[in-house]
Amino acid sequence: MVKPGDGYKEIPDGGLILEAGNAKAYKTGGWRTQRPVIDLDTCINCFRCWAFCPDSSIETADDEVTGVDYEHCKGCGICAHECPVDAIAMKKE
Ligand code: SF4
Ligand code: SF4
Repeated sequence: MVKPGDGYKEIPDGGLILEAGNAKAYKTGGWRTQRPVIDLDTCINCFRCWAFCPDSSIETADDEVTGVDYEHCKGCGICAHECPVDAIAMKKE
C-alpha cells in the first residue's frame, strides 16, 4: 500500500502478469452500467453471443446457452448486438 509521502520507488510496478490464468480472479462485472438479460425462450442457441463475448461471460451447459456470468460481464452489449433473434436486452443496472 502506497501512503502519502512515499517516494516513487514505493509505487508497485503496473501491467505485470504475476501468474498465469489470473484474469479469472478479476471481477470486472463492477465496471458495468448495463447488463445483458437473455430471454431463453427466444434464444435459438446459435452461440453467436458466446463466440463474440470478449470476456467469455456467456454461460452454457449441454449445448445450450444458460445465462451470463455477471461477475465478469462488463456490459459492452456486443452479445445483444450480435444476437440474430434479439433475445438479449441490455438493462440499466
Ligand atoms: S455484455 Fe459484453 S461482456 Fe457482457 S456477456 Fe455481453 S458480450 Fe459479454
Ligand atoms: S446470440 Fe441470441 S440466439 Fe444466439 S445463443 Fe446468444 S442469445 Fe441465443
